Amino acid sequence: MSTDPVNLLGLPRAELETFFESLGEKPFRARQVMSWIYGRGVADFAQMTDLSRKLREHLSEIARVSVPGIVTEQRSRDETRKWMLGMDGTQGIETVFIPEPARGTLCISSQVGCVLDCSFCATAQQGFNRNLSTAEIVGQVWLANRELGYQYDGNRVVTNVVLMGMGEPLANYRSVVPALDLLVDDFGFGLSRRRVTLSTSGIVPMIDRLGQDCNVALAVSLHAPEDGLRNELVPINRRYPIAELMDACWRYASEAYGRFITFEYVMLDGVNDQPSHAHALAKLLKYRPGKVNLIPFNPFPGTSYARSPVATIERFREILLKQGIRATIRRTRGDDIDAACGQLAGRVRDRTRIRLGKKLIQVAVRT
Ligand code: SAH
Repeated sequence: MSTDPVNLLGLPRAELETFFESLGEKPFRARQVMSWIYGRGVADFAQMTDLSRKLREHLSEIARVSVPGIVTEQRSRDETRKWMLGMDGTQGIETVFIPEPARGTLCISSQVGCVLDCSFCATAQQGFNRNLSTAEIVGQVWLANRELGYQYDGNRVVTNVVLMGMGEPLANYRSVVPALDLLVDDFGFGLSRRRVTLSTSGIVPMIDRLGQDCNVALAVSLHAPEDGLRNELVPINRRYPIAELMDACWRYASEAYGRFITFEYVMLDGVNDQPSHAHALAKLLKYRPGKVNLIPFNPFPGTSYARSPVATIERFREILLKQGIRATIRRTRGDDIDAACGQLAGRVRDRTRIRLGKKLIQVAVRT
């Protein structure tokens, strides 16, 4: 009886070592194979020339390096690129590459759809279908590297990875943490921890766990400085209100020297963009290791929100700066191909799963 080939992509290093040991090989084969897969973008065992021919042939029979297939690619006039990757036939996830003069940021997804129901986000309208596997998460980086031209000489194209695509990464903790480990492992993608950012809507117990398990940069989708408004915009706030969220953030920041939390704040015209909101936000962050990233709202079909005018965003930022809070305005990229923050949508058709999604949040936060 033959068994399905194992996908070596996404296997944590320790598991890959066990795999080679089970074949009667030395554990260091894991590092060799990882360097081929992640460092050089090689998926074909026949090309892994520092392995014996016998091992290469055996691997071709029992293992694979499989990545999701690219369904579409779009290129923005500002050179932002977006790929839709196929999942389970009718579903898709999106990955976005944002080139800048001194860095290249890849924005990856962690779930097909999303379990949260943030009122201003296009992904929420799609409902939730399923969690991505570790292979599907790191596969996005692998594919982007391949599409952009793998650079093995140290001149990386992708210098930064942000988990800011579709999905709530902390609601898919089990697959996300091994993916983060592979992103920063020297035998994996070898990225600096400061250049890998996980963005969360604020699942408090999971922020604490992340602090223990992983030392990556954290971004928190705050979007409102008081509970009434945040309950409306980011419904998970009803379970984890702002005070609890801020405490978790400061605990996370205190765990490693130099950790700074980024607070994302979408600018919605007439909703959360008034001077009173800026003053309340400044109060939350005063003397704390946090900075604010103001995101001009990106519209999508069917939304009733509008983007705050530039002058309103500038005034908001000025108030924060005067209170000693670091604040930047995120430049909108790729909006002509619906690749900007909050515009990602993988055409999830199975809306009946939305309710399951809510249940899953409860499961995720109780474990
Ligand atoms: N679920 C995670 C990861 C998504 S990150 C989180 O909530 O952080 C995507 C970022 O873009 C989040 O800060 C999100 O709140 C923001 N966003 C969502 N919809 C948006 C929109 N339409 N315009 C601008 N930003 C948006």
